[in-house]
Amino acid sequence: MNENTKKHLRDFIRDKISTDLTEGINDFIVTRFPPEPNGYLHIGHAKSICLNFGVAEEFGGRCNLRFDDTNPTKEEQIYIDSIIKDVNWLGYDSESNIHYTSDYFEQLYEWATFLVNKKLAYVDDLTPEEIRNYRGTLTKPGTESPFRNRSAEENADLLERMRAGEFKDGEKSLRAKIDMASPNINLRDPVLYRILSKAHPRTGDTWKIYPMYDFAHGQSDAIEDVTHSLCTLEFEDHRPLYEWFLENLPVLSKPRQYEFSRLNLSHTVLSKRKLIKLVEDNFVLGWDDPRMPTIAGMRRRGVPPTAIKDFIERIGVTKSDGIVEMSYLDNTIREHLNQTSLRRMAVLDPLKVIIDNFPEDLEDKLEAINNPNDESAGTREISFSREIYIERSDFLEDPPNKYFRLAPGKEVRLRYAYLVTCTKVIKDSNGKILEVHCLYDPESRGGNAPDGRKVKGTIHWVSAQYSNKANVNLYKNLFNSEMPDTGEDWLDNINQDSLEVRENCYIEKCLTNSTAGETVQFERLGYFCLDSSSEINNIVFNRTVSLRDTWTKKTSKVN
Ligand code: ATP
Ligand code: MG
Repeated sequence: MNENTKKHLRDFIRDKISTDLTEGINDFIVTRFPPEPNGYLHIGHAKSICLNFGVAEEFGGRCNLRFDDTNPTKEEQIYIDSIIKDVNWLGYDSESNIHYTSDYFEQLYEWATFLVNKKLAYVDDLTPEEIRNYRGTLTKPGTESPFRNRSAEENADLLERMRAGEFKDGEKSLRAKIDMASPNINLRDPVLYRILSKAHPRTGDTWKIYPMYDFAHGQSDAIEDVTHSLCTLEFEDHRPLYEWFLENLPVLSKPRQYEFSRLNLSHTVLSKRKLIKLVEDNFVLGWDDPRMPTIAGMRRRGVPPTAIKDFIERIGVTKSDGIVEMSYLDNTIREHLNQTSLRRMAVLDPLKVIIDNFPEDLEDKLEAINNPNDESAGTREISFSREIYIERSDFLEDPPNKYFRLAPGKEVRLRYAYLVTCTKVIKDSNGKILEVHCLYDPESRGGNAPDGRKVKGTIHWVSAQYSNKANVNLYKNLFNSEMPDTGEDWLDNINQDSLEVRENCYIEKCLTNSTAGETVQFERLGYFCLDSSSEINNIVFNRTVSLRDTWTKKTSKVN
């Protein structure tokens, strides 16, 4: 999407911001992207990133990257590093405005004592399980804790002792005193602090108590002067609580929360808990396995960041939940790569072709177009020789009608090279085709005969002598079912064939100079990029996405 269209993105959040600016409710917009550093970012997070950083950019405001690091049992520095890298890769400034909720621990604690002194919070001795049982249900009001009416002095003393580490995990907690009969369960005396005897990656052993998300989030927004706090719909019911804190605490700024629907994508899971399971139980080869819906995985697979941003813009920001088909994402990726990627030739299932009338030892250098959609990409030289490889599926000994590829007695065009006619098939004792012999028309250099005879089929090829070997990873969806995320048996839906490794593929020589992540089109096969593990003696390519169906229909389907 070009800059002009981008400026015209419209949705209810952009409309609201626009109104707030026009009406002078705000004169500067501040948003934030608040990941918990307990896993790698996935495509769902990209939606939130593009929205938060996107609107800040569009309205001349600022977006903070805030690490919501309130649970030291699950958070790690490697996740922080990966998040900074991924946001940056998506094209946003992830480093100028980094914040950590843990930087506000002292202020948050001060506010907790403020609530205690105002009799709006109390220390509870109920266990976490008892608290759950006392909470009631959607149809049944909750029950007040027997510790609810402690004096402010007693609560202040207990809170201080909680902080000092006098109690064990779960022995006490600090709760807001709101309304145990509220129809909104979030307002039934929510827990503000819990005891956790666990060192924090940033604050070390300083704290024995840690604030809950609800107590930390809005206040962190207020500290950072966030104006529009954009989060996903599951927080809609938390909004009254978010506002309750802002009303009852002496905060200087009043952020407002707006909710939008999260991205659900078919044939994958978008929950960190599940993604961690896939990594830890070795269902995939790591967070950046190209089959993962993580930003790191997509980067390794060769997906350009512009395609991800475009996809997010296309699905838009609404309040209605739905599932976006993985094929829609794939299509967006294809569209981008079709415009930008250089064309190359590679053979993934090689069958040797010997051109008997072609001079031995001749390296015939031909010209090939780099990108038919971009003239400025120019041309390159490709080497032709007496022995070449073609795809096994581009030869049939006994072809049906309308088979326009190679077959005995049939003529085919070798892309950018010559017209060749098959003269002989060599097989082993099991009938497996070992090699095919052809004669070429020396007058057809470049691909067309001077007499203008029509040759319908064009196939790709790679010189046997002037090429490199490579392994190519072909990926399919990680899950068989459309919505694997539902139910406890989600792991049963894993696609056992999501990775196919093709060894002994042949690639054009110039591909050895590729850089990881730079995606090219292997003609007639799809889009591929060099894997980050690739080495000169062990070249590995990943398939980013296959070619669109219309192309495979127009020519011939190889895979
Ligand atoms: P997960 O469910 O994967 O564990 P999370 O919501 O716990 O995700 P956070 O690190 O808290 O992960 O998310 C940071 C931000 O990204 C939050 O504002 C959250 O609402 C948003 N986000 C997470 N998943 C999605 C999604 N699928 N679509 C849109 N936004 C998302
Ligand atoms: Mg979360």
